[in-house]
Amino acid sequence: MNILILGAGAREHALAWAVLQNPKCDRLVVAPGNAGIARIAELADLPIEDADAVAGFAAETAMDLVIIGPEAPLAAGVADALRAAGIAVVGPGAAAARLESSKAFTKSICDACGAPTAAYAHFTDAAAAADYVRQRGAPLVIKADGLAAGKGVTMAETEAQALEAVEAVFAGAFGSPELVIEEWLMGEEASLFVLCDGETAVPIGTAQDHKRAFDGDKGPNTGGMGAYSPAPVMTDDVTARAMDEIVHPTLAEMARRGTPFQGILYAGLMIEKGAPKLIEYNTRLGDPEAQVLMMRLGGQVLDLMQACAMGGLADIRPVFAEDHALTVVLAAKGYPEAYEKGSVIGGLEAPPETSSQIVFHAGTARTGGAVTAAGGRVLSATARGASLREARDRAYALAEAIDWPEGFYRRDIGWRAL
Ligand code: ATP
Repeated sequence: MNILILGAGAREHALAWAVLQNPKCDRLVVAPGNAGIARIAELADLPIEDADAVAGFAAETAMDLVIIGPEAPLAAGVADALRAAGIAVVGPGAAAARLESSKAFTKSICDACGAPTAAYAHFTDAAAAADYVRQRGAPLVIKADGLAAGKGVTMAETEAQALEAVEAVFAGAFGSPELVIEEWLMGEEASLFVLCDGETAVPIGTAQDHKRAFDGDKGPNTGGMGAYSPAPVMTDDVTARAMDEIVHPTLAEMARRGTPFQGILYAGLMIEKGAPKLIEYNTRLGDPEAQVLMMRLGGQVLDLMQACAMGGLADIRPVFAEDHALTVVLAAKGYPEAYEKGSVIGGLEAPPETSSQIVFHAGTARTGGAVTAAGGRVLSATARGASLREARDRAYALAEAIDWPEGFYRRDIGWRAL
């Protein structure tokens, strides 16, 4: 099979690494990729949010399967263009990708199918939103409607914070002047990842991540500083409830509306006393969650992705070893605010890469003979083990072997589960 992966992060490096372990893979191209991916796959310099350019490239190069990593190409309709060209693709079309790209849309789906989620109200009018805040009182969660890379959400502990957040949305801080105001849910957060072929849904794992920049879950929110899988709070019973009460009803409602969901559904959940509620959907793998999921699944990922894109999930189930995986993100000092690019990263070849430990690349480039930092989140030191503790110790041994004074990482990934 010829396979094309879109994206440039550690998520896509992990996907590429897993896909390559499957003997069905004849040729793997990643667009645009990074310095780590360049060591294992061909790179293509493609504008990945340009639907026609991607579909044209995939047709010319006789791709059998395209896996879309990030959300922006999904919202731009890249999966629609590929399907129209007769090319199998993992990822929803733009209409079904609204489960991620519009919070108001997701809430309306939950209403229609009865999926448990935070109580909410939707506003396109500033005065009405402010009245609602005064009426309900704090705490509240204020969310700009569209994609804002996690920055459009304010956890308002006071009424003044809530009003300020409402004002920012209507001043145009996040694009369209539209927001959702939610009840603040209590409990423990975890993520459930599900493959859907439009009819059948198959869970492929659970994870928990660390969003804050610094130890002790302090500092600003980031794209994610580490993750581990499985999430202890996602017991078989909680997972079954999340599938029955949230995922299956959502997929049935999407099909009923004539926009069946085909791709990866990532449910962000709040679990309280064993009962899951939906916080949000993403319509792709998470980063850093993909790194731990791919490490645990290995080569079967290609069979699962193929069944997801072509139909056939009813006949396939992932096989999980009794293992754990953990990833530690190395970021440029200063991230998520301003940071320097171009510093040289050493020690990358020192720890041997094995099926149970690997450093996935995110924002890296090759400058001359050296690997250099080219982004905020730069590397993901990832390992598996028979226990979470063993996975953690291996991942930190990998991180410590990297010689990069301009970088930093959290020392407490996995603390909650350990
Ligand atoms: P991201 O891109 O970081 O996933 P997002 O912009 O899609 O974020 P959400 O996932 O909806 O936004 O919210 C971000 C975070 O805010 C959640 O991971 C969760 O920690 C917290 N959060 C959101 N809604 C609620 C809620 N109703 N109650 C409690 N916490 C919430």
